[in-house]
Amino acid sequence: MPDRPGFDVLCKGCGRSLVTVRLLRDPEIDVLVDHLRVCSASEPLGDTPMLGTILRGLLVRAVDHQMNTDVPTDQAAVTAKSESR
Ligand SMILES: [Zn+2]
Repeated sequence: MPDRPGFDVLCKGCGRSLVTVRLLRDPEIDVLVDHLRVCSASEPLGDTPMLGTILRGLLVRAVDHQMNTDVPTDQAAVTAKSESR
């Protein structure tokens, strides 16, 4: 089963969606820092940016569970009324 993404992380400067993750870990943070370094619309980062500094240039949005569609349970309509005689 694939993990369901939990958060959209967008660049505050240019508004691009950078990653969609459940948890922010080092690989994701690398992606974000890489973008912030090259994104001319965002504030420049120092050599060793703190997480707070990184997050200041980002917008974190919870992903709506729009894929969670209601499936009618047709099986509930199946009743066992047939008598075997
Ligand atoms: Zn950007």
